[in-house]
Amino acid sequence: MKNRPLIAACLPIILSMLLSSCSHGYNPLDKVKSIPRDSLVWLESYDGASGYKNHKLTSDEKDLIQETFRTLPPVLQEALENDVYAIYFVDGMWYGALTSRIPDLNQCIIFINPDTLSTSLSEWLTYRDNTIFSDASDTSCFVSGCGKKGEKYTGFLHTLTHELAHVYDYIDRVTPYVEDGMKDNIKADSLFYDTWKDRTQPRNGYGTSQLEQVAFYGFGGCVSSSLAAEMLGWLSSSPFSSLYGATNWADDFAETLTYYWLNKKLGLDYEVTYLQNGQETAHFTWSESEAAKRWKPLCKEICGK
Ligand SMILES: [Zn+2]
Repeated sequence: MKNRPLIAACLPIILSMLLSSCSHGYNPLDKVKSIPRDSLVWLESYDGASGYKNHKLTSDEKDLIQETFRTLPPVLQEALENDVYAIYFVDGMWYGALTSRIPDLNQCIIFINPDTLSTSLSEWLTYRDNTIFSDASDTSCFVSGCGKKGEKYTGFLHTLTHELAHVYDYIDRVTPYVEDGMKDNIKADSLFYDTWKDRTQPRNGYGTSQLEQVAFYGFGGCVSSSLAAEMLGWLSSSPFSSLYGATNWADDFAETLTYYWLNKKLGLDYEVTYLQNGQETAHFTWSESEAAKRWKPLCKEICGK
């Protein structure tokens, strides 16, 4: 019998691969749109900023977005496909991203700082975590990241996972309410009431006065970096996954789900070291924290593993 050409012999395999990739192969770039003028004006006014511009993605950036999308848990891939109205990349933003809900559509818009695509994961988290200090320097600062394994990723991995956790929370409801505009429909049985009195106030015994004075990215007060070691010590035994997540219950959930999944799927572990005059004086490792233990069942239920 004459041999069939190789391509014909392989055709059923190629077809089945194509079909299986199509069934899970949503293209996240379908959601990326050029930001409309009125949305740009709204965002500038919300941030108290000016000079924001639409960012045109390069082909490398488009590849990175698709690659990052494929690392997400299915539930967040579905959140992007079904519950996101648009993703806008905006030049000029100095923080990572903002997710906002359009109540009439019950869908979300995500505004993303394109710098997250070109900044390493460690550099991005280090930048974010130091924005609460008035006096961070090269030798006295937090050094954050996800260890050696995290070196091949950019800040976008954290940003996209975190923002889609907010989308999931907005639509599928995990925390009591994500923003004050949702107070007419509170999720009264949210597990986050165990540790939070309200959206920004932890229950007695869970909070720390130092965090009450600060806001990340310059959106409020700062503290001296001399408090950093104490804050990291507090964080390790708190129910929160990061100092950023300890500022409100929505970010508490988004940070926790993000670090759970990065750990589960990619073996990454969020770590923060405090350097004082170049010496390591305190350290936080997410996988060893109280938060990692406390929230494992919830994250496992949401992510499916
Ligand atoms: Zn957030």
